Amino acid sequence: MSKPRVAILGLGIMGSGMAGRVLSAEFSLTVYNRNREKAAPFEKNGAFVAASPREAAARAEIIISIVADDAASRGVWLGEDGALAGACRGSLLVESSTLTVAWIKELAAAAAQRGCELLDAPVTGTKPHAAAGELLFLVGGSASALATARPVLSVLSRDIVHLGPTGSGAYLKLINNYLCGVQAASMAEAIAFIRKSGLDRSKAVSVLTNGAPGSPLIKIISARAAAADFTPNFELRWMAKDLGYAVEEAARSGLTLRTAAAAQEIFEHAVEAGHGEKDFSAVLESVPQN
Ligand code: NAP
Repeated sequence: MSKPRVAILGLGIMGSGMAGRVLSAEFSLTVYNRNREKAAPFEKNGAFVAASPREAAARAEIIISIVADDAASRGVWLGEDGALAGACRGSLLVESSTLTVAWIKELAAAAAQRGCELLDAPVTGTKPHAAAGELLFLVGGSASALATARPVLSVLSRDIVHLGPTGSGAYLKLINNYLCGVQAASMAEAIAFIRKSGLDRSKAVSVLTNGAPGSPLIKIISARAAAADFTPNFELRWMAKDLGYAVEEAARSGLTLRTAAAAQEIFEHAVEAGHGEKDFSAVLESVPQN
């Protein structure tokens, strides 16, 4: 069987790693990015650079989007130059950004009207995992659509979990990042507490990271803070976004996520202090002082 033609919309940290993998696996690839400069390296390596999401979608059977947020996703899929306007009947849409379930459901309905199916397939893992094909896909949608997408998703991932109907992947991704965001925010407060207490920071952090609170995430962000290396793998502003989406989505089902709201406040403070485009571990250096 010949390989499906693939389009990737969004060549940020995650999309560029994914596009590199798709090209290495010798799929025919079309890429689109709002800022076209980011597409140049992929053109050199054999990808076609589309001028619009619509043009990219028209050239592919599987169209993957990995952009910032609901507004960006809406922008690449809908409208006159949007991917849905260019998608052929029967094409498969894969939305891998971290988004609200409400928007995913709206997009799935718009896709169905166009004769296309949507998989919500957000990912865990970060920059190096995207570049190495070691992401974990959390998938919502039909089993047949996943079977169609699998040859492509397989070159991008270490595993693919089919969670249930449309929106299931988006739900679990928000729950995942809610837990990560709360841990990071609580570590940021712990660092502020250590500073106030006059303890030796490196000794105190070593005790914490090697003890019960030392989750994989706490270990990674503490190491990055100790090295003062905030080159982004995952930008801090996107964690603020994900916490906001988790709060919003839980509220739609009648649940108040109090710890997510507190963590969101800490992340938004860090964004306001100018750390939004740093790695999210930079939250450890920016806790509101009352
Ligand atoms: P990123 O590096 O900031 O890239 C964002 C991408 O979205 C860029 O291609 C950007 O285009 C595009 N974009 C932003 N606003 C847009 C708009 N209004 N219209 C069209 N395109 C727009 O982000 P990333 O780290 O790759 O993350 C992408 C998504 O994956 C996010 O939903 C994020 O939460 C999720 N995610 C990230 C990670 C991670 O570790 N980085 C892990 C899992 C999931 P320009 O280049 O033109 O700005």
